[in-house]
Amino acid sequence: MSEIKDINLQNTGRDKIAWVKSYMPVLNEIRKGFEKERPFEGKTIAMSIHLEAKTAYLAETLKAGGARVFATGCNPLSTQDDVAAALVAEGFEVNAWRGVDDETYKRHLKTTLSCCPDVIIDDGGDLINLLEGECGEYGKNLIGGCEETTTGIHRLKSRERHGQLHYTMIDINDADCKHLFDNRYGTGQSTLDGIMNSTNLIIAGKTVVIAGYGWCGRGIAMRAKGMGAVPIITEVDPVKAIEAVMDGFRVMKMDDAAPLGDLFITATGCKDVIVERHFKKMKDGALLANSGHFDCEIDRRGLEKLAVESFERKPNIVGYKMSDGRILNLLAEGRLVNLAAGNGHPAEIMDMSFSLQAKCLEYLVKNKGKFEHKLYEVPREIDRQVADLKLRSLGTEVDILTEEQLKYLDASK
Ligand code: NAD
Ligand code: SAH
Repeated sequence: MSEIKDINLQNTGRDKIAWVKSYMPVLNEIRKGFEKERPFEGKTIAMSIHLEAKTAYLAETLKAGGARVFATGCNPLSTQDDVAAALVAEGFEVNAWRGVDDETYKRHLKTTLSCCPDVIIDDGGDLINLLEGECGEYGKNLIGGCEETTTGIHRLKSRERHGQLHYTMIDINDADCKHLFDNRYGTGQSTLDGIMNSTNLIIAGKTVVIAGYGWCGRGIAMRAKGMGAVPIITEVDPVKAIEAVMDGFRVMKMDDAAPLGDLFITATGCKDVIVERHFKKMKDGALLANSGHFDCEIDRRGLEKLAVESFERKPNIVGYKMSDGRILNLLAEGRLVNLAAGNGHPAEIMDMSFSLQAKCLEYLVKNKGKFEHKLYEVPREIDRQVADLKLRSLGTEVDILTEEQLKYLDASK
């Protein structure tokens, strides 16, 4: 039995799914193949991933391949209730709504896993943590799963290092067709989109402090610069810091950036990136947003402690009044601003990430029995296939190496 906000919201949800479908040509192509071959016939898939329109289309694609799909969110604020309703109306089992409390969020994860899935999709590692802990019995049929994001991969690698990974997982995040596009261009655009959406303020001329110059941070910095902002980068990795300098950005410590920033965006996957001593130095009106992982990059509890008063200023924005009268504005409770205060990455981007997911789930099912309990890379052929299909959908062709060229390149290796 599904648990969602309201089934009557299904119409707008259905419209949203129909819209994104028109801009996901690679997944459309894969869906056609699945309809013919039915690779997931008799198989059950559990997914914990941001429940919005592109994810819904991934779920439909897997169903077209014969799967029974059980879905929940991977963030308490990113579920779109109308999309969840549309999925339930189509016969999916969905347990999620926007704004769940921690206890309900966990219950939804457990209910989703209780279908004893053959394969899973995880985004951030919440499902695998339960399977490795209190929900071990739900893993009895598990062939394996796919992890979507950087932080989830860090956690899986840590489990592997400590001998605590007892399932087969595929690292979607590190495929070329994922991080090069999703983390960089997807996060770059959708983070600013979420911030503009909720603040309705101008980016041009603002000093934007971006914490982390990894794939996400680079994308955010590139887009902020393009919109006329003056970006400042903070880093802990000296190589990334040099890269930021050579890309034309100022790099400094957060302690020095705190009094300068109009807008702060964290994208590190780390905790306590912006804390009390930074809040104390910030300008009145400063905007604080996170696009990394969880609500711990910006120390919300520290902000709450410091504030004499807090109040909702607009949907998705809470103002924290300091004892000296300054107001600091936290967006989306410090959770992923692009998904909690926006629609996440655009359809053309999720087309690639979710095509990798769909093909890797098929790969797991087709090769059942051949895997060890470890973290695997996305097979090179799948990454190439997604790139080829995407390129073709863009109407772009590339040159093909001749036999002579292949020999030449081989000889010079
Ligand atoms: P990455 O590893 O490429 O980059 C992270 C960067 O942050 C690294 O360069 C690291 O040195 C730096 N860093 C770490 N701790 C820091 C600190 N305390 N201060 C300053 N810099 C610090 O990872 P990524 O792919 O860019 O992902 C970053 C985070 O964003 C992850 O948590 C990932 O799960 C998440 N993510 C979010 C979205 C989204 O839709 N919002 C999309 C993809 C990834
Ligand atoms: N569950 C964690 C994980 C970070 S989510 C959290 O909520 O804090 C980061 C992932 O969200 C990215 O890897 C990206 O692929 C995914 N994402 C971004 N936009 C999305 C969208 N529109 N639909 C579904 N997933 C999306």
